[in-house]
Amino acid sequence: MLKKIIIIGGGPSGLTATYDCAKRKIPAICFESDNMVGGISRTVERNNFRFDIGGHRFFTKIRQVNDLWDEVLGEDFLLRHRLSRIFYNGKFFNYPLQPANALSGLGLFNSFLIGCSYIKSRLFPALPEENFEQWVTNRFGSRLYQTFFKTYTEKVWGIDCREIRAEWAAQRIRGLSLWSAVVNALFKKNTTIKTLIDEFHYPRLGPGQMYETMAAKAKEMGGEVRLNHCVKELHHKDGRIKFALVSTQEDDICQEGTDFISTMPISSLITSLCPCPPQKVLEAARSLRYRALLTINLLIDAPQQLPDTWIYVHDPGVKMGRIQCFANWSPHMVPDKKSSLGLEYFCWENDGLWSMSDRQLLQLGKKEISSLGLIDTDKIFDGFVIRMPKCYPVYDEYYANHIMTIKSYLQQFENLQLCGRYGLFKYNNMDHSILTALYAVENILGAGHNVWDVNADDEYHEEELSSPESG
Ligand SMILES: Cc1cc2nc3c(=O)[nH]c(=O)nc-3n(C[C@H](O)[C@H](O)[C@H](O)COP(=O)(O)OP(=O)(O)OC[C@H]3O[C@@H](n4cnc5c(N)ncnc54)[C@H](O)[C@@H]3O)c2cc1C
Repeated sequence: MLKKIIIIGGGPSGLTATYDCAKRKIPAICFESDNMVGGISRTVERNNFRFDIGGHRFFTKIRQVNDLWDEVLGEDFLLRHRLSRIFYNGKFFNYPLQPANALSGLGLFNSFLIGCSYIKSRLFPALPEENFEQWVTNRFGSRLYQTFFKTYTEKVWGIDCREIRAEWAAQRIRGLSLWSAVVNALFKKNTTIKTLIDEFHYPRLGPGQMYETMAAKAKEMGGEVRLNHCVKELHHKDGRIKFALVSTQEDDICQEGTDFISTMPISSLITSLCPCPPQKVLEAARSLRYRALLTINLLIDAPQQLPDTWIYVHDPGVKMGRIQCFANWSPHMVPDKKSSLGLEYFCWENDGLWSMSDRQLLQLGKKEISSLGLIDTDKIFDGFVIRMPKCYPVYDEYYANHIMTIKSYLQQFENLQLCGRYGLFKYNNMDHSILTALYAVENILGAGHNVWDVNADDEYHEEELSSPESG
């Protein structure tokens, strides 16, 4: 039977599926609800300044993904040097931590106490190891946990570290202890890891350029990408999705397909199904939580004042979690002799921070950046706010059960493939999101990949000491 694939979402995973189908000459339509492609990995332009939603590093150990990125962007895929530091207690600490730098920042006595608390944790580990606090403390000691993990992690997640599953820490900072971190830092033998840490790829005009180009190339090869098309309902019968009800700016359309690839948040997928799934599946979907992100983006009439690509702000005195210096990601992100900052605030959709007006948020951002004393704030001449409601799938103590309930219900649909970060409710970076999309297309063609296994057990995340990345 001739295939017609309907792809929901025009972020990295949906566009990868679209591009791959176009290359294989399989008819496919990608519906994107927003007025631009890229999803969370988009780039937003304002007066020739470009901003990511957070900073998006391109790094991977997956050959297919690297090849795809190279194929799409060619020479515009730059190799960039990374400098990221932690700002804590008025001081900068290199990130990944380097023993000599950390020692001088923390002071000898404090470092001695960190060593003692590490030995104590090794002798008397907290067992069973169920939550983030126990996982980190068992490997780094409680004092280092308090200094470099707790504040930032709680800013990111908005919940006590004891409510975060140990599994999340294991996924993000796997296989590392204080001892191996010190050995790594002193005798950096693993050049692959070192390269992954010190350098990264980045499109000349930001991550959006990668996905805008991917969409354009998919279209050139016959693929379709329709913006401002939101999939509202997926109608099914006898274990097959029959058609999507898609709302456009004018009206609603029904789109039939032989196969469907969904990258929309799995909770939205469940509530879009007609007829409705059983109550317990709906409950499971509604119980999944996502952490939101808002960025306060500042335009500055001066060259870049900081050397960093980004800074983790561990200081508990400010709400800000991270600072992005986009001119250092790529000089083409800002006009000549100008610079910008992206201040990241982790929050819940509709909480106090989220509900502040843009004007109040801009004031907050300027006040906080000024209180840190990092740049000359007089040169800030404009700013704007971006709100992203679903950014981080929250791995709380219940999520795994909810996902199991949802997965076993969805198994009945033989022509539905899930992929991406929110499609699978997995803390996937772009490369893993993309790999699941490549697998989804192959599955439609008869392969038997289990997309849930991607990013489950391959050695990948940054093997370095400090707070886990919040990508
Ligand atoms: C702050 C932050 C920093 C990050 N940094 C990095 C990094 O440095 N490196 C890295 O590799 N990864 C990073 N990531 C992860 C990366 O953003 C994701 O892996 C990637 O964007 C996931 O792609 P996706 O296509 O699965 O999902 P999305 O990017 O969310 O795309 C999904 C798309 O589907 C659309 N959509 C949703 N519902 C519907 C609907 N009903 N109908 C039609 N369209 C719909 C959305 O509008 C969206 O465009 C970061 C993430 C965050 C939040």
